[in-house]
Amino acid sequence: MFWDGTAAGELRIQRCTPCEKFYFYPRPYCPTCHSDQVEWQVVSGKGTLASYNINYRPFPIFETDEPQVIALIELDEGVRLMSNIVGVEPLPENLPLGMRVSVEFEPRGDQFLPVFTPESRS
Ligand SMILES: [Zn+2]
Repeated sequence: MFWDGTAAGELRIQRCTPCEKFYFYPRPYCPTCHSDQVEWQVVSGKGTLASYNINYRPFPIFETDEPQVIALIELDEGVRLMSNIVGVEPLPENLPLGMRVSVEFEPRGDQFLPVFTPESRS
């Protein structure tokens, strides 16, 4: 479901029906109340930069020699996910914590990976 969503240009996150909390990563039970009544929701794809790391030696999967920004994004829906920041030079001065970001989808292999760009750019 998650990867079907990214292929359709949607960021889908699971939400618990009884307690209405979003959570990530995908799993069949709510981590808060352990209900199995969970559903997929399309979320805004907007959030803030919570933390990051500049990786100067990317894993081979990224198919690039460029440094990668590995970022922890806090979505407006309240969940955090690991992703990449793209569209800016990977320098600390371009990556203030709390910066507004929005999702884009990059083809990687046969999937579309959600990545984030500074919102002011788009
Ligand atoms: Zn719950």
